[in-house]
Amino acid sequence: MAEYDFDLFVIGAGSGGVRAGRMAAAMGVRVAVAEDRYLGGTCVNVGCVPKKLYAYAAHYADDFADARGFGWQSERPAFDWATLRDNKSREIERLNGIYRNLLVNAGCTLIDGRARIVDAHTVAVGERRYSAERILVATGGWPFVPDFPGREHVISSNEVFDLERFPQRVLVVGGGYIAVEFAGIFAGLGATTHQVYRRDLFLRGFDLEVREFVAAEMRKKGVDLRFNADVERIEKQADGSLDVYLQDGQVLQADCVLYATGRVPNVERLGLENVGVRQRDNGALIVNDQLQTDEPSVYAIGDVIDRVQLTPVALAEGMALVRNLYGNASQKVDYELIPTAVFCQPNIGTVGLTEEQARERYGEVDVYSSDFRALKHTLSGSDERTLMKMIVDPATDRVVGVHMVGAEAGEIIQGIAVAMKAGATKAVFDATIGIHPTAAEEFVTLR
Ligand code: FAD
Ligand code: NDP
Repeated sequence: MAEYDFDLFVIGAGSGGVRAGRMAAAMGVRVAVAEDRYLGGTCVNVGCVPKKLYAYAAHYADDFADARGFGWQSERPAFDWATLRDNKSREIERLNGIYRNLLVNAGCTLIDGRARIVDAHTVAVGERRYSAERILVATGGWPFVPDFPGREHVISSNEVFDLERFPQRVLVVGGGYIAVEFAGIFAGLGATTHQVYRRDLFLRGFDLEVREFVAAEMRKKGVDLRFNADVERIEKQADGSLDVYLQDGQVLQADCVLYATGRVPNVERLGLENVGVRQRDNGALIVNDQLQTDEPSVYAIGDVIDRVQLTPVALAEGMALVRNLYGNASQKVDYELIPTAVFCQPNIGTVGLTEEQARERYGEVDVYSSDFRALKHTLSGSDERTLMKMIVDPATDRVVGVHMVGAEAGEIIQGIAVAMKAGATKAVFDATIGIHPTAAEEFVTLR
């Protein structure tokens, strides 16, 4: 008889939990996975996947307009929110089923319900208790909305995908990934869109030139960007519309106010007080290089440890953990050179250091950049521009940062990230023959 019901009890079937659970079960580990809301977690249900679908939808507005210069003489087609929303929901349901099959077919025991840690080797789901040699916390994050008068009238990214009706006037608060992505989505879909950010320029942490470039492009696409601004209070009118009072005294009207002001680790009612784990001020579990908490049988991965809140990072952490625990490997997650894309309009793709970070680290750096109108727009008539930028450490010739704003930036930067991971120098980029005519070829012709 085994000492425990399971070898590994995974709490949360999101990006990290599913990957870790499947991989461990495939190695013969007896795995349970508990999920209380939706299989696939944030990414599949209220994150990456529906967001990208909505970003595609928004981009059609530009595509229809661009097509005219190429001879297509249609009127601008009308947009129907219900069709997009319901098609999206059907696709997500399909993905939920796929995730269920993936877990069950891998041999995981799937437990529907909210899990609570009872002690270092026991998890409760409802009335049932399960013992496990190890517990993996993969409970993700949850939107954070600050307190202010009228907070009850706003929504977060949890609700934005399933709005009953399309809001004609939208106000987005925040200056991070979610805020710029949704400002672009709503503007593209035809809403009058305001974005309010508390400091002088949004996308803090990204390359300064990229931030300025994106702000200019978003303004061209009609987003009313308001920096150094914040909401004081919101009042709901009898007709359901919202009066948003800004701190500078201005009042904006909106049908929907989306708060995208960060996410906090999802640790509520998780029973962490019953084990010896340490947490940061925002609740994030503190783990060592092996993703182990101070309670030796309790591990944590993904957004709940708040290192880098991205799906591929949660996947990498899940895989590293399982290889360490069950694969006789000693693997640490490498957090250097994580590429990322922001699906605003146009997209940002970035990997490595910003120019500011590179100057701080290396002192002098070589900066190559190109700001141009893509070939497509010579006929489309669009005034959208593309920015490509490369930062090089002159002492070693190593490329230490690459940034792009433009169509398919994420697709292009993924390949660049592989080159940088392999240690590519500027000379290697220069020696690479371009693919013509593409935007990507600029990266091998920057001089
Ligand atoms: P999650 O995916 O959040 O999964 C945690 C799971 O645990 C959830 O299903 C939750 O219901 C469950 N759970 C929580 N508590 C319990 C409990 N006590 N018992 C049982 N189950 C529990 N990342 C990208 O890389 N690219 C993107 O384009 C991107 N877009 C995003 C867009 C939005 C709007 C948002 C909000 C996020 C986006 N992200 C994106 C981030 C990405 O979704 C997260 O980094 C990723 O989902 C983290 O995975 P995780 O496994 O840590 O947590
Ligand atoms: P971010 O941390 O990216 O941005 C939060 C924003 O909210 C910042 O601009 C911050 O301002 C602002 N903010 C925070 N608190 C307040 C407050 N009290 N009042 C006003 N503004 C405030 O969080 P998001 O919610 O946009 O996204 C969460 C994470 O999810 C991202 O960091 C990213 O890791 C992941 N994600 C990834 C995506 C992708 O890969 N494409 C897409 C969407 C999300 P300040 O700059 O001043 O701190």
